[in-house]
Amino acid sequence: MTDLLNRAYDPEAFRDAGHALIDLLAKHLQNLQEHTLPTMPWMTPDDQMDYWKNYELGDQPSSKLFQDILDRSINVHHPQFMGHQIAPAAPMAALANLVSGLIANGMAIYEMGPASTAIEQIVCQQIAQKFGLGPDSDGILTSGGTLANLTALLTARAVKAPAKVWNDGHADRLAVMVCEEAHYCIDRAARIMGLGSKGIIKIPATADFRMDTDQLEHHLAKANEKNLYVIAVIGSAPSTSTGTYDDLKAIGQFCQQHDLWFHVDGAHGGAAIYSEKYKHLLDGVELADSIAIDGHKMMMTPSIMTFLLFKDKRTGYQTFSQKAQYLWADAEEAEWHNLAKRTFECTKEMMSIKFFALQQVYGDQLFADFVTNQYDLGQVFAAQVQSHPNMELAHQPDSNIVCFRVTNPTLSPRELDQLNAQIRAEILSDGQFYIVQTTLHDRTWLRVSLMNPMTDSTLIAKLLKRVEYWSQKALITSDK
Ligand SMILES: *Cc1c(COP(=O)(O)O)cnc(C)c1O
Repeated sequence: MTDLLNRAYDPEAFRDAGHALIDLLAKHLQNLQEHTLPTMPWMTPDDQMDYWKNYELGDQPSSKLFQDILDRSINVHHPQFMGHQIAPAAPMAALANLVSGLIANGMAIYEMGPASTAIEQIVCQQIAQKFGLGPDSDGILTSGGTLANLTALLTARAVKAPAKVWNDGHADRLAVMVCEEAHYCIDRAARIMGLGSKGIIKIPATADFRMDTDQLEHHLAKANEKNLYVIAVIGSAPSTSTGTYDDLKAIGQFCQQHDLWFHVDGAHGGAAIYSEKYKHLLDGVELADSIAIDGHKMMMTPSIMTFLLFKDKRTGYQTFSQKAQYLWADAEEAEWHNLAKRTFECTKEMMSIKFFALQQVYGDQLFADFVTNQYDLGQVFAAQVQSHPNMELAHQPDSNIVCFRVTNPTLSPRELDQLNAQIRAEILSDGQFYIVQTTLHDRTWLRVSLMNPMTDSTLIAKLLKRVEYWSQKALITSDK
């Protein structure tokens, strides 16, 4: 053992650096809540690269490095962060993350994560019951909604495809049906599975951005005519751009009639099941064969953890039915405690403890409060936009995602797109607020995801004032 290795594992040095780090992070959280820091300390990607290329910590303490990282990172804990759908991690869940980071239980098999394996099974079963998936349900945790959706579609293929694709490759031309408004990762998952463009049947959205479920029959018949074998329909709960929930009951009933796998992509809003006020948005979710829900979006866990639930636990074992004899003695046996049998990952984080720590310390009411508070804010935001003379909403929000824009009767649609894009660019480089933009029906819209419980109606009004300010400024400049 070298001196250097000794130093790297010295418990006393860890204690000192750890205390300094927690002090730093607590102060940072406080500064953000008191608005004394920007939301987005904007630097161009090239400037950022130069800074870190030339970086040298030298003899300074590790807290200097961590401070420098904080100073150049986006602050999702800032109440004026209203951008992408990442929850400000609850500090208790971040502490659980630290435990996972240090003790590094690898999770693939029981021995490599005894406590967190049992906890994983318990929390998955609990949530599956909450969704009404019934006595045979369970689930796993996986690294993100993207991977959960891919895994669910692989399960759908294992269960519904006429040939055994896993062993024999594709004998049939398979397809899935999903709304055109769905998250891009569904399209990507289908392509990874070799379904190709023709294997992704995009169901048009209604004017309010929901899957037009009246068109399902027609598209299924058309697929059959082309010898496409549809295995699954995916419902969004909600879709990403507008936060709009598909009619899960209609999709679920359609799937039952036609013996199709029903997957619910609840990456963003599956957590609404905790909210008495908003769980009605998920009516019909109990018909799902599988459901994906991100902890790091609406459940306040640090990135990354995702629930993937199965109505029939046996189906989850069919996804990757592959022999890996060095990992487990009996590859064919459905052992709940050897998780890598059912996950794409071999090694993964101890994800369950992030959620479990919050649940044990605060109770399930915390998740209810979070969803209800954030979805209520979506309503507040929409009302403020609607009462604004120069702004309009793209949709009435179901959730905490709202798309809106500045309007101006003297501008062409194209000029209006440019104006809104410019407003978003100014807000980004200004750094006080963070919002994003999206394209809906070929037009540019500003988009907020209200992820932070410290955001309130006053800060929303302040944002709209900034939007108005940049709009006026852009119009004056373009007149010159
Ligand atoms: C965010 C999101 C995803 C992707 O999840 P990741 O955890 O970012 O991989 C998939 N579907 C929907 C509806 C989402 O909102």
